[in-house]
Amino acid sequence: MTTFLEISTFFEQLENISSRLELRDKLGNFLYSLTPTEGAITTYFITGRLAPKFVDAEFAVSEKTIIHVLEDLLAKSETEIKRLKQEYNDYGNIFKELTQHKIQKSSLPLATIYEKLWDIVKATGKGSQKIKFDLLKNLLSSTSPVEGKFIIRIILGRMRLGISERTILDAISIKTDAPKQARQIAEKAFGLTSDIGYVSSLFIQNSDLDSIMHKSQFTPGIPIAAKLVEREKTIKNVFKRIPTPYEEPKYDGLRCQAHIYKTEELKSLSNRIWYKYTSSRETLRLSNSADSIHVKLFSRNLESLTSMFPEIVRGFKQVGQALFQRYPNAKAFVFDGEVVGFNPNTNEFSPFTDTMTRRRKYNVDEAATETPVKIFTFDVIFWDKTALLDTPLRKRKELLEKIRDIHPDIILTPTHTPQTPKKAEQLFLDYVSEGLEGVIFKDPNSLYTPGLRRFDWIKFKRAMKKELADTIDVVALGYYYGTGKWAKFGIGAILVGIYDEKKDRYLTITKVGTGITEEQWKMLKKTLDQYKISRQLPNVEIPKQLMPDVLLEPAVVMELEADEITKSPTHSAGFALRFPRFKRLRDKDPTQTTSLHEIQEMFSETRN
Ligand code: ATP
Repeated sequence: MTTFLEISTFFEQLENISSRLELRDKLGNFLYSLTPTEGAITTYFITGRLAPKFVDAEFAVSEKTIIHVLEDLLAKSETEIKRLKQEYNDYGNIFKELTQHKIQKSSLPLATIYEKLWDIVKATGKGSQKIKFDLLKNLLSSTSPVEGKFIIRIILGRMRLGISERTILDAISIKTDAPKQARQIAEKAFGLTSDIGYVSSLFIQNSDLDSIMHKSQFTPGIPIAAKLVEREKTIKNVFKRIPTPYEEPKYDGLRCQAHIYKTEELKSLSNRIWYKYTSSRETLRLSNSADSIHVKLFSRNLESLTSMFPEIVRGFKQVGQALFQRYPNAKAFVFDGEVVGFNPNTNEFSPFTDTMTRRRKYNVDEAATETPVKIFTFDVIFWDKTALLDTPLRKRKELLEKIRDIHPDIILTPTHTPQTPKKAEQLFLDYVSEGLEGVIFKDPNSLYTPGLRRFDWIKFKRAMKKELADTIDVVALGYYYGTGKWAKFGIGAILVGIYDEKKDRYLTITKVGTGITEEQWKMLKKTLDQYKISRQLPNVEIPKQLMPDVLLEPAVVMELEADEITKSPTHSAGFALRFPRFKRLRDKDPTQTTSLHEIQEMFSETRN
C-alpha cells in the first residue's frame, strides 16, 4: 500500500529533474511500482485532477478559500499570505515552507487522500465554500509539509511538474518489451477512452497489448479525440492528394461532439476508479428524465458543453427520439459538427466571439436568446450498435442523411462533389463571399482517426494579401516587463512558443507586443499571472538570450496573425514570425498550438 507521503515525495523529486528523458524514465519506473489503481490515481494527480476532463470533478475551491485556510493554519493575516504569494509564487510552496517545523505524522494511504479530495469536490450548492473550507483545513492540518504542498496544487489544478499527457504515454510505453508498438497502442487507447489514468492502469495491469486495446473501446457518453485537418496552399494540390474530394463550407464556431445514448451504456465504466464517486450524483450529468435518452455535448478539448448549449441538447434529444423509435435496440448515436451562432433577425452567422460568450457559465438561458446557435453536423461516428471509426466517410455520410430535417437547429453541412479544381475554386469563392473563412476538402474514403491530422481532411482558407494564409496558435511561455508606454502595465511583450509533438516540448517562435489594446494588455496580464512559475519546466526550451522577466507555465493559447514565417537562429523552434499581431485568446489545450510540423509546412509552402 503506497502512502501519499511517498507520492508527494516522488513529485518533489520530479521537480528537480531538468532532463525530459530522465523525467520520463523515472515516472515510468515509479508508475510500474504501483498497483493499477494507485497508478491511475497518481496519473490523475499529475494532471492536477481526480478524473479525466470529461468528468465534472472540479474542486471549485476559490483562491480566497485557500487564503483563508492558510491564514488559519499558519496564523497569518490575509495581507501576509498575499505577500508570501509574491515571494513563493505558489500557495503550495507557502504551506510547505511555513510548516517545516511541524512534527511528522504518519501519512495516510494514497487511496484515502483520493477519497478525501472527492469529498471536497462533492460539496456543492449553498454554503459549500464553508464546507470545502472545513474539509480542506482538516485535511491540511493532519498532513506533512510536502503532502500539503501537493494537495494544494491538486486542488488548484496546477501541478507545475511540466508533465504532459504525452509524457505519461511515453513513460508507460518505454517500460514494455516493445516500446514503439506500445506507444502506438497507448496513443490509440487514449484517443478512444480520453482517460489517461485508465490507460496507465491498463498498462500497469497487462503486459499484453492486444488485451489493452480490447479494454479501450469507444464508449458512447465519453468523448473521443476529434479528427483534425491538414492545410494545403492550392486547390490543385488538394486534388493531387484527393482526386475526387468532398467539399464542405468551413464554419467558424466551436467543434462539438454530440452523444445520444441510453443510460445503461455508462455502466461499462464501472471499472474506472472515479466512477463510484460520480455515479451517485450528477457528475456525469445524467438527467433523471423518464425517457432514458441522454444527450451530452463535448468540445474539442473533451470538456462538457452540455450546459452551454441547451437548445442543441433539445434538438439532439428529438433526433434521438426519432432514431431510437426506428432502431429500438440501438445503443447510441454520436455526431460531430460545428456549433455556430446565428442571428435570426438578419439571417446571418454571428461572429465566433459572440458564440463564445456562452463560455461564461452563468446566464446561459439569456445568452441562448441573445445569440441562438445551430449545429452544422458533418459526421457520424457511432450508429445504432457500431462505432464507425473504421467506416469510410462515404458510408458515414449516407447514415447522416437519415437525420436530415428532424430538428431545425440540427443542420446537415452541405457536401459538394466538385469534379475539377476550377469548380472547387468557384464553390470556395461563393462561400467566402457569404462571409465564411473557407472550405474543407475530405476524402470520401477517409476513416475517422481520433486526434490525428492527416491529408484526407484538408482545409483551404481565404488568403489575405501579404499575410500568411492562416493564423497561428501559440502558447505564452513568459513575458517582459517592457519599457515606455506599456511599462505601467508591467508587461510589454509576450514570449510565445509552439508545441513540438515529436519532442514533447514547447519551443519559442516569437515575441508579441503589437495588435494589443490597453484593455487587452490588462486582461492578458491578469490571465497570464495565474500561470507564473519560478523555474523553467523541463518541457520548455527557452534560449538564454530570450529569457523573459516572468516565466509562465504553458497554458494560455493565443491566436496570432503574421506576415511571414522565417528561419531563425535565435528561437528554439528554428523559425520566427515576422510582424506577429495578437488576434485573440483561444480556448485550447496548450499542446494544440500550431505544431512545429505545420510551421515547417507553411514555411516551405511560401518558398515554393
Ligand atoms: P487546428 O488546431 O486544427 O488548426 P483550428 O481551431 O485553428 O484548429 P482549423 O484548423 O482552422 O481550426 O480548422 C479545423 C476546424 O474547423 C475543425 O476542428 C472544426 O472545428 C472546424 N470546422 C468547420 N467546418 C468544418 C467542416 N465542415 N468539417 C470539419 N471541420 C470543420
